Amino acid sequence: SGDAAEGDATGRTGASLFVLSFRDLTEARRLDRMRSDFVANASHELRTPLASLMGFVETMQGPARDDAKARERFLGIMLDQASRMSRLIDDLLSLSRLELRSHVAPQGRVDLVEIAGHVCDALRPMAAEIGVEINLSHGDRPVIVSGDRDELIQVLENLIENACKYGQSGGRVDVGIEPDTGMGTLVSVRDYGPGIARQHVPRLTERFYRVDVESSRTKKGTGLGLAIVKHILTRHRARLLVRSEPGEGSTFSVRFNRESDARG
Ligand code: ADP
Repeated sequence: SGDAAEGDATGRTGASLFVLSFRDLTEARRLDRMRSDFVANASHELRTPLASLMGFVETMQGPARDDAKARERFLGIMLDQASRMSRLIDDLLSLSRLELRSHVAPQGRVDLVEIAGHVCDALRPMAAEIGVEINLSHGDRPVIVSGDRDELIQVLENLIENACKYGQSGGRVDVGIEPDTGMGTLVSVRDYGPGIARQHVPRLTERFYRVDVESSRTKKGTGLGLAIVKHILTRHRARLLVRSEPGEGSTFSVRFNRESDARG
């Protein structure tokens, strides 16, 4: 067992190795703990819509058997619950694929102006439906970073979709791309919604962390979006910066390393 290894290390080779081995075990235990918490959380998140689905199936077999109107309504709810499970499974698979790839540097050259254009175009109909206008601003040249195109698209989708959903009341989302002028390339997504209280900010990228569980549910969140964003950005050696003022909105920015640092 792990404890025996600790004892051996002390007995044979002295204090410095003991310290090292003790730290490794603590880290291993912490990771084990995180993994089992994650499995428990994921199971719980899947179980909730599944229980609801099963409940409706039973109702349709029993009390609602001859009520066509009720059955129609229940089928709609069941489809919603099944979609929710499907989104969760997609996000869980994304996370596990990213973990498998975490030690491989992403390959490729990506024009942030081009992918931001695509993502904004794709999200505008959804945004318009909830009364949000998406504005994209950038210079007239491409802004190239090293990275994986699909993964960076996923980052922009998540940040812009969150800004629209949670900042809906602000009516507007500003996406900006600034080329590297010495501090690294910057992408920012600003909303004018309710903002996020300071104590929540450091925890936003935790798996299944939500500021408001109910609003995340109604807005079709899984609680995994920002965890996926963080994984992708770590792989790209880029950083997520969050600035938020309750009542004034939030800015989620991605700062890429200077190209020379990224290659080095
Ligand atoms: P979800 O799938 O619930 O949207 P995310 O990981 O994408 O999960 O985000 C975690 C939580 O952070 C959300 O549930 C929401 O409470 C909060 N959040 C994210 N973006 C914003 C934003 N732009 N404004 C306010 N709250 C936000």
